Amino acid sequence: MERLTLPPGGAAAVDEYLEYRRIVGEDDGGKQFTPEEYEEYKRKVIPIRLLNRLFVSWRSPTGVDCKLVGPETLCFCTHRYKQHKTDFEVIPQRRPISLPCRVPGCLCRAYLYVPLSGAQPIRCRCKHLADQHSAAPGLVCNACSKCSGFHSCFTCACGQPAHAHDTVVETKQERLAQGKPVGRDVPYAAMGGLTGFSSLAEGYLRLDDSGIGAPSVEVLDASVTATDHPFLRAFQASSNSPPETLRDGGTSSQVPSLRKPEEDDMAFFERRYQERVLLKSALALREKEMEKRRGRRVGNMHIRTSHILEMQLGPFNHQILASEFFSLTTK
Ligand SMILES: [Zn+2]
Ligand SMILES: [Zn+2]
Ligand SMILES: [Zn+2]
Ligand SMILES: [Zn+2]
Ligand SMILES: [Zn+2]
Repeated sequence: MERLTLPPGGAAAVDEYLEYRRIVGEDDGGKQFTPEEYEEYKRKVIPIRLLNRLFVSWRSPTGVDCKLVGPETLCFCTHRYKQHKTDFEVIPQRRPISLPCRVPGCLCRAYLYVPLSGAQPIRCRCKHLADQHSAAPGLVCNACSKCSGFHSCFTCACGQPAHAHDTVVETKQERLAQGKPVGRDVPYAAMGGLTGFSSLAEGYLRLDDSGIGAPSVEVLDASVTATDHPFLRAFQASSNSPPETLRDGGTSSQVPSLRKPEEDDMAFFERRYQERVLLKSALALREKEMEKRRGRRVGNMHIRTSHILEMQLGPFNHQILASEFFSLTTK
C-alpha cells in the first residue's frame, strides 16, 4: 500500500480544505474563495443554514425513511444532492418544497431520489432506464413515445414498489412533529437527511426513530447506570470528560466508535458505518463457525446472534444496543 506523506503542516492544510469544501459545497462555482470571501460567506450562510436546514428523505408509504439523502446522493437528473439548491434564506411556504438543480442547462426543477438496483439504474414500466428519461418536470422517456412519465415497479427493501415512495423535503420542526431524528445542528452544506451514523444504512436496517419498531426517545436518552455494559459506560464517560484522557489511557482503541476530537461529522458517520460493516462480517463468520460446530442449522437467527453478542460483549443494555446490533444481523 502506498503511503501518503505530507509536508509539515500539510495535514492541517488538508483538514482546512476539507472543512472549507463541506461548508462551501458548490457555492464557490469551482473558484476557491479568498479568505475574506470565505469569512463573509460563513457570516452570511451559516446562520441561515442552522436555522433553515431542510431534511431530505425517500419515504415509503409505511412511513419509513428508506433512504436519507446526503450531499453525494444522486438525483434523477444524474446530479448530486449538493448540486441542487439546498439553502433558503426564507423557507418556502408551499409544499412540497422543490429543490431545483443548479447545474447549468439541467432541466431538473426538484430533487428526486431514485434507488439503484445494485449499481444499476432501475427501469421504468416503458422498459427504459431511469437515466434515459428527461429530468424536466413530467420525466418523459427520451427513448420511446409510449412513456407517460417515469414510473418504476422496482421493489425497495421495505417491500414497497419504488413508485409508491416519495422524496420528502421537510423542515426541522416538521420532522420533530413526527418524532423523526434531526441530529445536531451542523454548518455543512447539503447535509440533507443525514443525522447520525446510522443514516447511511437503509431504513429497514436502521430501526431508529425513522423506522418501525424504534425505541422511544426516553429509552434512548435514559442515563447510563452502573448496571449497564462497560461499552455504554465508557461512552457515557467520554461525553463527560475531556477527550485527551481517553486517548492517553488508550481507551479509544478498545471503544473504536468514540468520536475522535479531530473528527468531523461526516468522517465520524463514515467510520461508524465501516465499523458496523466490519462487525457484521465478523458476526457472519462467527455464526458460520458455530453452525459448523453444531453440524446443523439452528433455529432463529436473531436469538443466535444475540447470544453471540452476549458471549463477546457480556450482558448489554438491550434497549440501546439491541437496536443497533439487530440492524447488523438481519440483512
Ligand atoms: Zn436533480
Ligand atoms: Zn441536475
Ligand atoms: Zn418511461
Ligand atoms: Zn421509454
Ligand atoms: Zn422503501
